[in-house]
Amino acid sequence: MSQSKLTDRFGRTVNYVRLSVTDRCDFRCVYCMAEEMTFLPRQQVLTLEEIARLAKTFVSLGTEKIRLTGGEPLVRKDIIELVREIGTYGLRDFAMTTNGSQLPTMAEPLRKAGLKRLNISLDSLDPIKFASITRTGKLSRVLEGLDAAREAGFDGIKLNTVVMKGGNDHEVPDLIEFARKKNVDITFIEEMPLGTISAHDRGQALCTSDEVRDIVRQHHELIPTPEDSGGPARYYRMSDSPIKVGFISPHSHNFCATCNRVRVTVEGRLLLCLGNEHSVDLRRVLRGYPVNDDKLRQTIIDSMDLKPERHHFSTNGDVQILRFMNMTGG
Ligand code: SAM
Ligand code: SF4
Repeated sequence: MSQSKLTDRFGRTVNYVRLSVTDRCDFRCVYCMAEEMTFLPRQQVLTLEEIARLAKTFVSLGTEKIRLTGGEPLVRKDIIELVREIGTYGLRDFAMTTNGSQLPTMAEPLRKAGLKRLNISLDSLDPIKFASITRTGKLSRVLEGLDAAREAGFDGIKLNTVVMKGGNDHEVPDLIEFARKKNVDITFIEEMPLGTISAHDRGQALCTSDEVRDIVRQHHELIPTPEDSGGPARYYRMSDSPIKVGFISPHSHNFCATCNRVRVTVEGRLLLCLGNEHSVDLRRVLRGYPVNDDKLRQTIIDSMDLKPERHHFSTNGDVQILRFMNMTGG
């Protein structure tokens, strides 16, 4: 694997890219989207060939880990073909974040196409609560999808839970027991102020990682571990289970100093930071004529100078970033 050629002004090396393959989704999670969403017209969205070309270019610049996300990546037509293509680029880690609704049929084809790891979002084990958080999702389908993923033999499966005070925080103990029973890792995430939502007040619903840890500790001892998965989570282990319990704490434990990643939206906007608007239009370069891969590479290298030192999310519920998470590529 080549040495990363992507280093920013603060000496951070970027070797992890999250590619959004669609802004569309079959769910409307209350913290992620408004109930009525307008999605992008097709011509503004990168083609699968353009996404693959971007992925290949990043790999040539030393990227070792790619995560496909969205929106819901599994609602993008021909996503398996894209996975198969990117799977040939020799990545150390190749992962996807999904809501799990399509996994009952797609888990095995994804694994066979070369995907190594899956993150599956799961905010509730109560079918009614699950339906109210996702607005359109069906819990049984996601649980079936999780089992299909376990059978397909991925290198790793992790559950992602956004914890909301007065929403699903009371389910933290059940979610931990569930993860232990299914033998999958679980990460609890603090809600971030991306996009304007109406379902709840983000400030009031913020449940910090410290609070979630306290809930878990009423049932299990948590042993800190320095292991990391190349992402922002801090991990803990339990003496009587092989699973890892992670916490992503954009509010309470800023992870910017070790940030090694960038995101590309499905419109080809290179986002240098989740919590800032700095971006570079790669679609313009991708669609430039004649095709010029050197220019694409140089544009990506130059854009590293725009990566800000840190994000500044406030906890009072204010929206600081106007784009929703489904546009950002969570
Ligand atoms: N649709 C897929 C899913 O739900 O897993 C992938 C995209 S989704 C945007 C990626 C992750 O971002 C999910 O785990 C979701 O729970 C999380 N997420 C969405 N909006 C968020 C927000 N405002 N704050 C924190 N996490 C959020
Ligand atoms: Fe869709 Fe994922 Fe956003 Fe939920 S979090 S609305 S599943 S993109």
